Amino acid sequence: MEIINNASLKQLNTFGVDASAKHLTEIHNLEDIEALLEWKAQNDLPCLLLGGGSNLLFKNDYQGLVAKICLAGKDIAEEDNDFTYVSVAGGENWHDFVRWTVEQDIAGLENLSLIPGTVGAAPIQNIGAYGVELADHFQSLQAVDLETGNIHEFDLLHCQFGYRESFFKSQTLDKLLITSVTFALPKKPNWKMDYAGVREVLEGVEPSAKLISDAIISLRMSKLPDPAKIGNGGSFFKNPVLSLDDWEAIKANHPNIPGYPQNAVLAGGTELANGAMKTSAAWLIDSCGWKGHRKGDAGVSDMHALVIVNHANATGAELWAVAQEIMASVEDKFGVLLEAEPRVVL
Ligand SMILES: Cc1cc2nc3c(=O)[nH]c(=O)nc-3n(C[C@H](O)[C@H](O)[C@H](O)COP(=O)(O)OP(=O)(O)OC[C@H]3O[C@@H](n4cnc5c(N)ncnc54)[C@H](O)[C@@H]3O)c2cc1C
Repeated sequence: MEIINNASLKQLNTFGVDASAKHLTEIHNLEDIEALLEWKAQNDLPCLLLGGGSNLLFKNDYQGLVAKICLAGKDIAEEDNDFTYVSVAGGENWHDFVRWTVEQDIAGLENLSLIPGTVGAAPIQNIGAYGVELADHFQSLQAVDLETGNIHEFDLLHCQFGYRESFFKSQTLDKLLITSVTFALPKKPNWKMDYAGVREVLEGVEPSAKLISDAIISLRMSKLPDPAKIGNGGSFFKNPVLSLDDWEAIKANHPNIPGYPQNAVLAGGTELANGAMKTSAAWLIDSCGWKGHRKGDAGVSDMHALVIVNHANATGAELWAVAQEIMASVEDKFGVLLEAEPRVVL
């Protein structure tokens, strides 16, 4: 395991923040994982697991070891009458993996096309888009405990997936390294295509995983700024889930607020007696006039109010300051507390 000292992370995070890591290494195989365990036992420094850096905001330089997960390999592990079971290593690129399934006419993941990052990070926040989330097709994952070296297998129940949440995000960050994920992909597809931009492309055409994936890719490219052109981390805030009472109180003053009925359980397990409503964080932020805002090199995309952008040389602290101003203004106007979706590394 080669270690680089004082390494720049600029190319390793999609915000393009020029933070540095005291130490940086890459994990390619089992020997590297063993070396990482040894390094952790010998050094009293923190260790951060890094995939594609598309859901991390480095607020400062990182005073420990950043371990970039590069584990590779994917395989059709098994098939039965109902499912194709596909196993894929944690360091594989998520979108390339989705396209690999699509090219083989294996359905299930097509709506999750073009989400940046790696397979190993995908369960951390139960990635989702266009009516599908990872949990819908998840079978199991394997992870190494970085304290003990033990290998654990997690099934669906143990992952505690929720809306952009999981057991790993809430309990085990940097403690468990996800080495591989197995998906159960249905032989009888349940297409989700009731979205403007997807519906039209597929009108009068027999749907296929590839057609839907292609439509989702065009849709995403038209709606979201490309991190290769302008630094960003996709949606910066989760869509808030409100009690029905709170939602109705806001609606009385803001009749256009969108609402999508939810199961009456908030993240964290709080049950709401009268039901719950998810609203749109983008709508709340746009209503406060943030779209296109710019302060120095930190700002809000003019394509999408949920996306905080780095025009060139903004620091993580400057981007986080914009996020905090947005949160304060939304709370002030609507009484709603926004929650950041990316991990903010202090
Ligand atoms: C333009 C853009 C669009 C996006 N669109 C979506 C979207 O539609 N839906 C959605 O859900 N998300 C979206 N995201 C967010 C992001 O792509 C996902 O969260 C993705 O899964 C992050 O993967 P990553 O490899 O980049 O993770 P990183 O940012 O590198 O890491 C994220 C977290 O996972 C941990 N981690 C990484 N790898 C491992 C591993 N192998 N084992 C254990 N922990 C690990 C890290 O420590 C960190 O806590 C978008 C981001 C961008 C930039």
